Order: sequence, then structure tokens, then C-alpha cells
Amino acid sequence: MKSFHWLPLAMLVALMTSGTSQSTLAGEKDKLKVLIIDGQNNHNWRATTPVLRKFLPASGRFAPPDIATTPTNKKASQDEWDKFRPNFAAYDVVLSNYNGELWPEDVQRSLEAYIKGGGALVVVHAANNAFPQWGEWNKMIGLGWRGNGFGDRVTLNDAGKTVRTPKGEGPGAGHGSQHEFSIVVRDTSHPVTKGMPAEWLHAKDELYHGQRGPALSMHIIATAYSAKGNGGTSAHEPMIWWIPYGKGRVFTTVMGHGDYSMKCVGFQSVVSRGCEWAATGKVTIPIPDNFPTADKSISIPKETK
Ligand code: ZN
Repeated sequence: MKSFHWLPLAMLVALMTSGTSQSTLAGEKDKLKVLIIDGQNNHNWRATTPVLRKFLPASGRFAPPDIATTPTNKKASQDEWDKFRPNFAAYDVVLSNYNGELWPEDVQRSLEAYIKGGGALVVVHAANNAFPQWGEWNKMIGLGWRGNGFGDRVTLNDAGKTVRTPKGEGPGAGHGSQHEFSIVVRDTSHPVTKGMPAEWLHAKDELYHGQRGPALSMHIIATAYSAKGNGGTSAHEPMIWWIPYGKGRVFTTVMGHGDYSMKCVGFQSVVSRGCEWAATGKVTIPIPDNFPTADKSISIPKETK
């Protein structure tokens, strides 16, 4: 009688084990591949890249990101730059945390071809300060940290209407003092922001204003009010937007000055969901239960050693 009982149990265990391992394998295979680019920045990329690298896979949707680091020394030799040849096509999404010297011509063309062919680019904070001299980059990001003679400025007025200010008029790029500020969702049906509170308090950060560029087919997803009292512009400045580029998508958020800004649960949710959406056109990563509210910013707790 004993063997009669044990056999089905053994079979059941075997079935459960094989079922579990198969679904785990399939899950790993389905994880999106991210390439983070860093190496030069007027910000502390050595502190912020590890934050990005950690929270993306924590969502369960991404494999641990690879990092492509450029030469970090502005006097780097040609040989050192020759080693920076990221294989963009091997990734579902490229995330730029880079603000430095212009990449070699063939790397520029390679990124353009990757996005045009349906690739995905996500740009955080000062990564949009990079490459004013690279025309296609400016088209991809739409707006960047540029002087007021560079291109149009795009803001929203108090009625929520888009205002384009031509070059030469109004402020160029800048920011006031760092503070916590409200992110106002303008596109509540966009997959990245769908289900988020309409307004939520972002952790301490720089509130970029006066961003400039061609802003072609720019879709504004969220803004923040730039108060004069904080050194701002009294305009609703774009905080999250996206631009179609060929068959691909470019998703930008100007949030993320410091590692403390990137530890905002709202920022991490926006970037995780933004990466998934840019890569696939869909968002499956849930909005976390501890998402910031209109009155309270929420940051992930400091790590205990
Ligand atoms: Zn900054």
C-alpha cells in the first residue's frame, strides 16, 4: 500500500518541479535587455548608474542591465575610443546616462539606425544636455539643455494648452534651486502614466526649464510647474515626453539629478515603465502600492549594510 501512495506523490513532485523550472526559464528568456550608457557626465554617473542598474531588474521585467562606458578621460586616445562600439541591436532598450564628448561617427549612425529600425531609447536628466551638434540626436530627444537661440521652447499654459516659443524669445535652459515638486500627468491614457495619480510629489530634484529643440511630433506626458519663488519660469515645464523616430520610440524624463532623486519611487516607476513601453509598446509593470501621493514624496529607504 505504501508504494501505491508514494508513486503518485513522486510523480506530482516531478511534474511540479519540471513545470516550475520551465516557466522560470521562459520568464528569464522573456526579460527585456537594457544597455545603460555612461562614462562622462557633469553629474555623478558613478552614483546614479548603479541606482538605474538595480531598480530596473527589481521590477521583474528586465534582465540585469549591461553597461557601456565610454572613455572617462576627455584626453582619451583614439585607441580607447575605438573600444566603444556598443551593439545597440542586441538590446530591447538603450538607456542614456551620458552627457559628454560626441561619440564617434559610426556609433552615432549605429544608434540612429537602431532607433529608426524600431529600437528604443530612454533619456534621463542630463543625458538630454548632450550632443547639441548632433542633428539627429536633437530630433530624437526633441528638447535638450540648450541656449535660447537653439530652437523652440515648449511649455503648457495654466489652461493646459501647449505653447511654442520660438528661438530667441524667452529663457534658454536652466533650473532653480533643488526642491520636491509636483509632477502633473497630462496624458492619463498613455500606458506609462495610466493608473498613476494625476498629480504626485517627486523627491528633491532639479526642475529643468527652458529646454530647446526641434520638438517634432513631441508628445508631452507630464509637466511640473516651475515656480518663480524657486528660481523658475512660472510655466508648466515638460518633465516626461516621447518622440517617434522612424519605427522606434524615444522616451525622455528630465528628472533624475542625483542618486537621491532617482530613489524616488515615482521616478523609478516612470523609468521602468518608460523602458518597457519604449521597447514593446506595452506596459505590464504594475504601479507600486507605495507610489507617491499629491502631498507626499516616497523614496526607497537607504540600504542597511
Ligand atoms: Zn542636474
